[in-house]
Amino acid sequence: MYDAIVVGARCAGAPTAMLLARAGHNVLLLDRDEFPSDIMSTHFIHLPGIVRLHRWGLLDRVKETGVPAIPKTNLHANGLLISPPPVPMPDGIPSEAICPRRYILDKILADAAVEAGAEFRQGVSVRELIRDGDAVVGVRGQTKDKTPVEERAKIVIGADGLHSIVARQVGAEEYDTRPTLTFAYYTYWSGISDPEMHIWFFEDSRGILSFPTHDGLSCIAVGGAIEGFHEFREDIEGNYLAVIDRVPELAREVRAGKRKERFVGTADQPNYFRVPYGSGWALVGDAGYHRDFLTGLGITDAFRDAELVAQAVDAGLSGKRPMGEALAEYQTKRDTVAKPLYDFTVKLASGTFPEPADWMSFGTTMAQMIHS
Ligand SMILES: Cc1cc2nc3c(=O)[nH]c(=O)nc-3n(C[C@H](O)[C@H](O)[C@H](O)COP(=O)(O)OP(=O)(O)OC[C@H]3O[C@@H](n4cnc5c(N)ncnc54)[C@H](O)[C@@H]3O)c2cc1C
Repeated sequence: MYDAIVVGARCAGAPTAMLLARAGHNVLLLDRDEFPSDIMSTHFIHLPGIVRLHRWGLLDRVKETGVPAIPKTNLHANGLLISPPPVPMPDGIPSEAICPRRYILDKILADAAVEAGAEFRQGVSVRELIRDGDAVVGVRGQTKDKTPVEERAKIVIGADGLHSIVARQVGAEEYDTRPTLTFAYYTYWSGISDPEMHIWFFEDSRGILSFPTHDGLSCIAVGGAIEGFHEFREDIEGNYLAVIDRVPELAREVRAGKRKERFVGTADQPNYFRVPYGSGWALVGDAGYHRDFLTGLGITDAFRDAELVAQAVDAGLSGKRPMGEALAEYQTKRDTVAKPLYDFTVKLASGTFPEPADWMSFGTTMAQMIHS
């Protein structure tokens, strides 16, 4: 009998397991993947995410992998260039973002959970929740060689991403749901000299995101309105490069550089909040809240919510507060901070350039997250 089982060991699950283990709880962390391994995602981390990595003692470890610091983010749209100035950060942390490869970041996070005392079983796929009446009391699944796995805990936390089996089996209700708005394709290029992050938006809703990452490569994504997905995928490379060509200074380097990996793409970008708790279960990360990838917020959101859910579950497990009350507060805190970012993201993804008031609200919320 564990105190908590966390299903999913990437940027939501591993920090949740780590924080609960550091608080003295007996935690089982499960993932069907084996680590290190990649996942479909570009990987820009905003400053509130950097603050959390620092607070957990992991920022230096991530930086030591050679990921370049990104000193500035630039948004080019409607003939405007918006480049926020450096912001005051706590503890003297430099006001620099990073964009670490997921197979590197996620392994560091999972290792940190193990170092904190969590038991981590990789290659275990959860298939079913075990119930006692209405309450979730454990999981059933299997290893890669089909050995059955059955484990019980006081709480099962679904950090199992967009297609969360935990959310599906508990019937977690969705709210504030918006339609899927965009698709994206990304790959990695050598030969891009710009050390900054750039987003370009065009009037026909096509866009480019460019982030420097490990090994001297840049991750460059091209996206567009969902209606254009099927046409785009008929000639991914040609259509991708045609969008890049709209930014001559970038196109020059891309065309002179080398594409180092295959194209990865998706049109599976739903926008929803889910009720993130019930009797014996909770959700964190994409399992409980998903927004279009366009603002690159998923990892930062997952880090924030890992802290919030771990605080709530710790309070419940240690008897400081009734679990339901603590998790209700988790939902309120998550939604209060996520909502302005969600509205901003959905607006941008729908091709509407945000108003000054939207920018203000986005900036204020990010600043609050940096200092909370
Ligand atoms: C194209 C694209 C680009 C993106 N770019 C960015 C970006 O630049 N910056 C950013 O912050 N975010 C970005 N995101 C979003 C980001 O990838 C997600 O928000 C983030 O990965 C969510 O983390 P998570 O831990 O909740 O879920 P995931 O990272 O999806 O991890 C879920 C884990 O659960 C495991 N799992 C699932 N089901 C089971 C099961 N039944 N049993 C056991 N294990 C299971 C999976 O193997 C996986 O390891 C992007 C997403 C996409 C699709």
